[in-house]
Amino acid sequence: MHHLIDHWIRPELRALSAYQVADARGLIKLDAMENPYGWPEGMKQEWAALLSQVAINRYPDPQATQLQGPLRAAMGIADDMGLLLGNGSDEIIQMLCLALAGPGRTLLSVEPGFVMYRLIASFCGLRYCGVPLNPEDFSLDLPTLLQTLEQEQPALVFLAYPNNPTGNLFDEQALLEIIQAAPGLVVIDEAYAPFTDASFMARLGQFDNLLVMRTLSKMGLAGLRLGLLAGPRPWLEQLDKVRMPYNINSLTQASAAFALRHIQVLEQQTQQIRRDRALLLGQLQVLPGLTAYASEANFILLRLPEGRASAVFAAMKQQGVLVKNLHGAHPSLRDCLRLTIGTPEENQACLRALQTALSIRVP
Ligand SMILES: *Cc1c(COP(=O)(O)O)cnc(C)c1O
Repeated sequence: MHHLIDHWIRPELRALSAYQVADARGLIKLDAMENPYGWPEGMKQEWAALLSQVAINRYPDPQATQLQGPLRAAMGIADDMGLLLGNGSDEIIQMLCLALAGPGRTLLSVEPGFVMYRLIASFCGLRYCGVPLNPEDFSLDLPTLLQTLEQEQPALVFLAYPNNPTGNLFDEQALLEIIQAAPGLVVIDEAYAPFTDASFMARLGQFDNLLVMRTLSKMGLAGLRLGLLAGPRPWLEQLDKVRMPYNINSLTQASAAFALRHIQVLEQQTQQIRRDRALLLGQLQVLPGLTAYASEANFILLRLPEGRASAVFAAMKQQGVLVKNLHGAHPSLRDCLRLTIGTPEENQACLRALQTALSIRVP
């Protein structure tokens, strides 16, 4: 079998390792930027009643008509802009890559950044180019970026705003310069929009090559898998050709429309998460020997004393708290862990586990 695999599976795919998802059973799950809150009982019952009316014997509405208006309202998308929906924004990254891939075509992003850009580019047949962020504060290295844009002429540029896994916003003027200098499409990935006031959504239409991507995942609907891309209609009409006709299933369409009718519940939750982020950041910043980076997202990046990250990660897990170990993911993430903001109780459990783990010396 292996010789067949080696012969037929594309070499760039064989070279990739699959995206790993940790087993979180029985653990406080603070590794994946999920919203920790559920819905009030009455709201759940109303939702269940609604789902029982969905005609699952029928194909979904290919345009997800009932979602278009509510999404535009919730995300502040102008009427003259187009809107494309994806089965998570991961699928939108894939649609963009499929539409723009070709011999000699490049996707450019920054590192450390969101790993799916590199992964999806690679299996769609786009060369990937990652420009390092400034290691001290994870800001954009604008001169190097401009030079690389010039050299590589990338078809596609992805920038997460705020960035994952560093949590910071890039300088707005620097992003504007990049958009103007880029020869191809620039996609601003605003997955963490619920946790910041900054956005490029209102700038759509000011540039021929700017698109903005969002998702419902981080605002509390990760299980539904719904992402969206907004921008000038001529671009989205082309991208729509690589979209599978029924990519947004009926249960997701009905559930997301329902959730958007109760958006104040989700907004209260994200406001709570923002307050708890400030609280946890303050508590982390007074711990000796470590750096907690300020964040505009629903997670905090933490740098531990040298050589301790993997042992601390394991010790926290032993105490029932699962976070993300980023040590080894990128040179500038040495000794780093990423903690998702949970409920106040989960955050305090996380803090206690971290403190306990830090006082356990590595043998
Ligand atoms: C989580 C995340 C996404 C993916 O979101 P889905 O809509 O759940 O696929 C996209 N971009 C960034 C930067 C993320 O952190």
